[in-house]
Amino acid sequence: MKKIVDIIKGASTIAIGGHIRPDGDCIGSCMGLYNYLRENFSDVEVDVYLQKIPDRFKFIKNSDAIISDVEEDKKYDLFIVLDSSDIDRLGEFQKYFDEADRTFCIDHHISNNHYADEDIVVDNASSTSEVIYELMDEEKVSKAVAECIYIGIVHDSGVFKYQSTTKRTMEIAGELMQKGIPFTKIIDDTFYTKSYIENQILGRALVESVMFFNGKCIVSAISKGVQDFYGITSDDMGGIVEQLRITKGVECAIFMYETEHLKYKVSMRSKEIVDVSKIATYFGGGGHMRAAGFNMEGNFHDVVNNISEQIALQLD
Ligand code: AMP
Ligand code: MN
Ligand code: MN
Repeated sequence: MKKIVDIIKGASTIAIGGHIRPDGDCIGSCMGLYNYLRENFSDVEVDVYLQKIPDRFKFIKNSDAIISDVEEDKKYDLFIVLDSSDIDRLGEFQKYFDEADRTFCIDHHISNNHYADEDIVVDNASSTSEVIYELMDEEKVSKAVAECIYIGIVHDSGVFKYQSTTKRTMEIAGELMQKGIPFTKIIDDTFYTKSYIENQILGRALVESVMFFNGKCIVSAISKGVQDFYGITSDDMGGIVEQLRITKGVECAIFMYETEHLKYKVSMRSKEIVDVSKIATYFGGGGHMRAAGFNMEGNFHDVVNNISEQIALQLD
């Protein structure tokens, strides 16, 4: 497999970009690569593009260097896109991707549709951060880079719990711990800690959840009105679908929030049977076998009816 040093060969200006509404893996892999390049390849000019990141990730080294707007016209020798299964996931940063001389995608989504000039897609890896780490020189990985990679692995594996966690994931986590990272604090502060409002909205989603298909499925939704009432954004609803998923007897969980009137962002999770990536891809989104997402129009009942039809095809 190619290493970072091979991927960047010949490029003196590099942009790194991740997907819209960046999650822990997206932020961890982008900032891990950004810091690795800054620390080890001082002759290369590198920029990192990400939408605004949640405050809990702002302790990451150089997070203040993240560029979140696309005002400037800039052409890069190389654009490296991370953790994004299709080009639309790049949002407005697609402009720099389109204009770059060369593009390279590093990802772990089974639904990746190979849109870059070259790519490395390891669909059985826990996270893009794990894939990125395998492309680095272990001795060149600093404590700051190790923190980024660790964040990405922790978030996309649900703290080393999902099926995508392998022996190799744990070995890498061990190597990262040896760099002296504050692993307990990273997990508590970026994964488990919830604000009062986040807990309130989680509670509300649980109270209003509905089971169907004999308790094999569960769904809950948060309307735009409720989001406005609490003054929350999508970042504040992160753990809800996982809490629904671990409900006893549930195979498949659906959480949706309204982005605009009658438009929903849908998250799906499953335990053992339902391939939610298949359903998400069917509705124009993507993801992994046990965690996937997409956008859908209609009222709550239309959306649930359409999704449950697809779930039924796999449960029967
Ligand atoms: P989420 O439910 O947003 O936490 O996403 C679960 C997984 O599905 C992540 O790996 C996302 O990258 C992927 N995903 C979510 N929404 C979309 C979408 N609209 N298009 C493609 N992939 C998505
Ligand atoms: Mn992601
Ligand atoms: Mn990921």
